[in-house]
Amino acid sequence: MEVIEKPEEMQKRSLELRSQGKTIGFVPTMGYFHEGHLSLMRRAKRECDVVVVSIYVNPLQFGPREDFNRYPRDLQRDLKMAEEVGVDIVFVPKDEDMYPEGYQTFVEVTELTKVLEGFYRPNHFRGVTTVVAKLFNIVLPHKAYFGEKDFQQLRVVQRMVKDLNFPIEIVPCSTVREPDGLAMSSRNTYLSEDERKAAILLNQALRAADELFRSGERNVARLKAKVWEILATEPLVRPQYVEIVDAENLEPVFTIDKPAVILLAAFVGQARLIDEWVLVSE
Ligand code: AMP
Repeated sequence: MEVIEKPEEMQKRSLELRSQGKTIGFVPTMGYFHEGHLSLMRRAKRECDVVVVSIYVNPLQFGPREDFNRYPRDLQRDLKMAEEVGVDIVFVPKDEDMYPEGYQTFVEVTELTKVLEGFYRPNHFRGVTTVVAKLFNIVLPHKAYFGEKDFQQLRVVQRMVKDLNFPIEIVPCSTVREPDGLAMSSRNTYLSEDERKAAILLNQALRAADELFRSGERNVARLKAKVWEILATEPLVRPQYVEIVDAENLEPVFTIDKPAVILLAAFVGQARLIDEWVLVSE
């Protein structure tokens, strides 16, 4: 497995691979791998000749009071896990090479980023789209893999790729969960034992709403009320938002007559966790 630090070197390597007719699959990450990350890498491995994974905790996508400094990092562990999955190249850029002095160019998706995560994390998606656009230009992939766990991020990146004509296929990948249903996240490491137990409720609330949906309920207010009702049973869980929106364009819906998604964010102790659940009629 190759480890590359310099953007110019990564780009040169990708151009070389492309000239040999190889397809490049790309998995951008912030590291501290779990099964969710690995599932994206395995899928890329199945579908592409060469798999490139980037590990970069992008300062631009964190707010001033967020967890950039304490975000978990363990490069040696990540490299070992990537190697075991059969990743070919790990790209680990440095801040000074991504945003050198004088840096002043940003990519912004204007509307999709005003709601949900974007409302509570102003400038977060501007940081995401800027770094993803840069990574796409450096890694030059044919396909890029994104988790539905970060549902809005997936839609924002798809919008950017469409609007800016990136010749890249975005491949959505389903959320990998712990056996008890908690969505895997590097941020789960922030949870104490009690908080970890309480965090199960996020998934339980989503499942309860799904059950109600499956039994025929199509009224968004009543489905949302079910989620709130369950989250409210656990004082360690402090929900920030629960919304049910159109799964394609993330616009509000009132009665579900096409695929919709429940999106929520909640603080559990210091950890801010998000989760998603797509509601589709059978
Ligand atoms: P992160 O390192 O958290 O920025 O995540 C890197 C990529 O992995 C993103 O596309 C995430 O959506 C995806 N991802 C994170 N957690 C999961 C999960 N539990 N299941 C599937 N994909 C995930």
